[in-house]
Amino acid sequence: MLAFRNEDLDPQRCRTEFVQAIFEDLRWLGIEWQEGPDCGGPFGPYAQSERREYYLAAWRRLLEQGKIYACKCSRKDLASAASAPNDVDDEPVYPGTCRELNLGTACELPAGMNWRFRVPDGEVVEFVDQNLGPQRFVAGSDFGDFLVWRRDDVPSYQLAVVVDDSAMEITEVVRGADLLKSTARQILLCRALGYDTPARYHCELVRDDAGLRLAKRHDALSIRALREQGWSPEAVRVSLPQI
Ligand SMILES: [Zn+2]
Repeated sequence: MLAFRNEDLDPQRCRTEFVQAIFEDLRWLGIEWQEGPDCGGPFGPYAQSERREYYLAAWRRLLEQGKIYACKCSRKDLASAASAPNDVDDEPVYPGTCRELNLGTACELPAGMNWRFRVPDGEVVEFVDQNLGPQRFVAGSDFGDFLVWRRDDVPSYQLAVVVDDSAMEITEVVRGADLLKSTARQILLCRALGYDTPARYHCELVRDDAGLRLAKRHDALSIRALREQGWSPEAVRVSLPQI
């Protein structure tokens, strides 16, 4: 069984026509899902923009347990405090400026502040990836206190996927290897919220001839463009890393 979840929390980047194009491109590629925004299912709604109540409930639980705190640092503060990020795909380790300030403990809603998860410093997070094998990260050094809610009132990716994976009873998550460290963060969030952690399978990223991961600048390699150039779904599938 496959579920299609539309992760459309960022209002700057999400438009209805984009999701229609994703439905069309994935179906063309031969991927069929049994639950999703277009076909429904027992764990709907399947668009994150319609699931705010779930994220708010998790935010409240984390706040009550003292697992998150408000952070008043600006982007500029963080940029000047951070040493160079050790990983281009990842955010710098948060220096802990607001950790002990106990800001926001009486807040009833998260809007207007950044909220961070207090990671247990030194705790080793281990998991066995179904594709890439044993993984090991150390909280507080491989990654720091990470965002669970943004000042502009959008839940973070980390919080939203953990809440949804649990509520939707997702048993296996397949995604790109650039998100391995995020999995360690999400395992900590799952523990804090008392959720089971789904199995993980991280795929190698699709790269161009120079070894760079595909991004917006590679529009010519989008599924849509390949399709317009006359590629068949089979030919596109065999060019991808094996899942
Ligand atoms: Zn801060």
